[in-house]
Amino acid sequence: MEKAVVRFAPSPTGNLHIGGARTALFNYLFARKNGGPSSELGASKFILRIEDTDKERSKPEYEQNILDGLKWLGLEYDEIYYQSKRTAIYREYLEKLIENGGAYVSKEEVKEAGQRAEVIRLKNQGKKITFQDLIRGEVEMDTADLGDFVIAKDLETPIFHFTNVVDDLLMGITHIIRGEDHISNTPRQILIGEALAANGLAPVSELAYAHIPLILAPDRSKLSKRHGAVALTEYKEDGYLPAALINFLATLGWSPQAAGLEQEILSLEELIKYFQLEQVQKSGAIFNLEKLDWFNREYIKRLPEVELLAEIKKHFPNRDEKVLRRLLPEITSRIKNFADLNEQSGSGEWDYFFEAPELAKELLRDPAPLSQIIKLISDLGESEVDFTAEKIKTAIWDYATSEGRGKVLWPMRVALSGRAQSADPFTIAAIIGKEETIKRLTHALNF
Ligand code: GLU
Repeated sequence: MEKAVVRFAPSPTGNLHIGGARTALFNYLFARKNGGPSSELGASKFILRIEDTDKERSKPEYEQNILDGLKWLGLEYDEIYYQSKRTAIYREYLEKLIENGGAYVSKEEVKEAGQRAEVIRLKNQGKKITFQDLIRGEVEMDTADLGDFVIAKDLETPIFHFTNVVDDLLMGITHIIRGEDHISNTPRQILIGEALAANGLAPVSELAYAHIPLILAPDRSKLSKRHGAVALTEYKEDGYLPAALINFLATLGWSPQAAGLEQEILSLEELIKYFQLEQVQKSGAIFNLEKLDWFNREYIKRLPEVELLAEIKKHFPNRDEKVLRRLLPEITSRIKNFADLNEQSGSGEWDYFFEAPELAKELLRDPAPLSQIIKLISDLGESEVDFTAEKIKTAIWDYATSEGRGKVLWPMRVALSGRAQSADPFTIAAIIGKEETIKRLTHALNF
């Protein structure tokens, strides 16, 4: 175990992206697995730092979306900071840097006609920067090309690289776990960190980095809207379960197999136990929606009945709850997420379970065998343990086999569902119950 103080540092310039959610998860897992309040290493922490220094592009609704998303996933943070409230701190470090010659104010032309503005630039020696990345190994980059780069527009307006480093050092961050798209920022940030060392901040060399692979579409292009939803909350709205999302996100760059596990279904607790940052792959992580759907199906199947029923009821308002409860296995076998139900119940696919269908003579063909079916199932008890699909089938099977299964089961199916395609007639009968079954069969017989 090692001490882990990590941060998820989103800029609220857009909704929480799938990639951001995955970064948050990896940080969370790493913090929770290492140390803890009672560890002798001291408390590990998962910090949420809202990087809202870009006043134009940061929006309260995006910030809310990020907070909602983390809450929905159950990724609880230990501390939260807003960079917009820390201007005085950044100012202090900018002033110190300027004072000791690490940075300087430079007057320069701006694009708009002949205006002059001041910016603050870091004095860059232009050396080679090398750092160890827990995933990518040793990374070396030349900083000569960067020149004396801008770290603030003025004392009140520091830019991202500066605030990011000041906070990482002030907050005692031990591991920077973030997307690979930030790897090219790292040398710049190390240079800022080195310059700040003269001001009593922790040495930047003590920071460990882990740049996690980009999330790619199945065709290995950059993941974008045309591949499906990229905002986490869209999955929430579509009725995916947070536990399924967590499990899926964990596999974007890491795999249970890498940890020697055969099972793929892992709870947040289990992920904390098995996840290893060192096992994260270098190559891009493919975003496979079918895989998410598979996870979601598995999690729907595992939901306790009360929770499942509560969720399903929302899509079947005013329907008989007893029937709905018996229908649950049918429903769960036919959906990948709860939004599927909006479409299915909108098109009336499930209606025949709740109300007698309209019959069409051509579809029903010859209803005569129904008379014997009614007799045979009349002998069954009507309780839920007596009137099961299995027992109904057994009661009818010999008759259907001797008369011809199609001839017997076809009118039964149509009488119960009004359809050529439906759940099997034994299952429908069991779900709608004995009384309703006999009512529908009798009606069809006399039709
Ligand atoms: N605010 C940066 C972003 O949202 C954070 C980068 C980092 O984690 O250092 O991409």
